[in-house]
Amino acid sequence: MPGKLEYDAVVVGSGPNGLAAAITLARSGCSVLVLEARETVGGGLRSGEMTLPGFIHDIFSAVHPMAVASPFFRSLDLSSYGLEWVHSLVPLAHPLDDGTAVLLERSVEATAEALGSDSQSYRALMEPLTKDWDKLLDDILAPRHFPRHPITFVRFGTLAIHSIGHLARSQFKESRARALFTGIAAHSILPTNRPQGAAFGLVLGAAGHTVGWPVVKGGSQKIADAMTQYLIALGGEVRTGVEVRSLDELPGARVILLDVTPRQLAAIAANRLPASYRQRLLGYQYGPGVFKMDWVLEAPIPWKASDCLKAATVHVGGTSEEIAEAESDVWKSKHPERPLVLLTQPSLFDSTRTPDGRQVVWAYCHVPNGSASDMSERIESQIERFAPGFRDSILARSVMNPASMEEYNPNFVGGDIAGGIQNPLRVLVKPMGQWHAYATPMKGVYLCSSSMPPGAGVHGMCGYHAAQRALRELR
Ligand SMILES: Cc1cc2nc3c(=O)[nH]c(=O)nc-3n(C[C@H](O)[C@H](O)[C@H](O)COP(=O)(O)OP(=O)(O)OC[C@H]3O[C@@H](n4cnc5c(N)ncnc54)[C@H](O)[C@@H]3O)c2cc1C
Repeated sequence: MPGKLEYDAVVVGSGPNGLAAAITLARSGCSVLVLEARETVGGGLRSGEMTLPGFIHDIFSAVHPMAVASPFFRSLDLSSYGLEWVHSLVPLAHPLDDGTAVLLERSVEATAEALGSDSQSYRALMEPLTKDWDKLLDDILAPRHFPRHPITFVRFGTLAIHSIGHLARSQFKESRARALFTGIAAHSILPTNRPQGAAFGLVLGAAGHTVGWPVVKGGSQKIADAMTQYLIALGGEVRTGVEVRSLDELPGARVILLDVTPRQLAAIAANRLPASYRQRLLGYQYGPGVFKMDWVLEAPIPWKASDCLKAATVHVGGTSEEIAEAESDVWKSKHPERPLVLLTQPSLFDSTRTPDGRQVVWAYCHVPNGSASDMSERIESQIERFAPGFRDSILARSVMNPASMEEYNPNFVGGDIAGGIQNPLRVLVKPMGQWHAYATPMKGVYLCSSSMPPGAGVHGMCGYHAAQRALRELR
């Protein structure tokens, strides 16, 4: 590293992975500086006013099954720094055109009971995953090449290897269970006919049963604030409003961890990278983008299926066939007429988000990467379809397209919220092709963002593993 050594480690970016890396290093006794381009910390964890004064919206992430499951998060006592998880009565509701909703309940049995002739199949699918949850998680969130719990992992792998569509059709006979599974698995942002997409439905479904899908009291920003306070208590330093344009601008440090995606690394480290590696970075594949909306409503959403009011998360997309068509359109660079809308209604369960009984609602749908199309009419029509009168209740709205998403956070390239196309086998296949994930060809420089294993979501494990790798060099 150039110049006088001022820190053991400098971390660029304060998303959950940047903060996780910084905390891991600081806990090991290292001096750590975090540099963040925006005026506030948090990356995908930000929340704040977006519509009317006093109404707190999650600007990006909202629902946190992987944070409560994450071994890294479980090792921190963030409740001492003000973090409080809020669980809705059930994790998820999925309304259908017949005016009912399928529910993902905390209990496998209760969920299965409502699935008619698919009841037994649902139990057979989910019970082994929930029983072996800790072992499964250990391998899914690890950076290793070979699973630590091979029997559990192979059992999971024989199901996870399938496409979402294949798994839904082969396991379930009826449309209710198929719709529920397909909506959950669609968080992968993969087309439903692509092998391995089923992994996401299995993991997120099992997470609903084991740890729940909580939101954060007061908004997701509280996670980043709590992590930052803990980091500072450990002696770490955080500077906001500092956009790093080149590695040459950084203070002297023994290691540098970058909470950025490969394309940004190519820009920041341009003069230090071998040409072939830089080409690989520039060729890194980003996935579809998202189009996001936030509303303030006069009252709770008037769902036809009142069961939807039990859930913080609602998947608005109809049958599994409709969801498949919508997601497939996105991959063909088309804008779905009837998108799958992933929606949260946190203020039903967290009254601190609004100054009175009015509601904040958050939703997004997938769109082609970099899309400039306005999806607001289609998103609102989908919600109106399952909740007639929704539009009449709107007091204010905010809209973010892929460009505004990327402007706010450069890691969301073209609106891709996952740091690249999701590959559930990132555990086994390293994204940049190198033997050691996280390392770059530059000595002491590591990537720690969600573009690295184990991938997208708020769990901090990419940052944690990158820091462990860096610690080997520091010791
Ligand atoms: C609309 C939306 C909804 C989502 N919903 C969920 C959800 O409900 N649950 C969930 O688990 N996940 C969700 N996610 C995904 C989640 O937010 C990301 O997977 C996660 O934030 C990735 O964390 P990270 O630390 O890798 O990067 P980020 O959170 O993107 O943080 C990167 C940080 O680095 C900073 N930075 C970048 N470049 C520089 C630079 N050159 N100099 C200084 N600072 C820089 C950025 O400003 C940013 O603060 C959602 C994302 C979006 C956009």
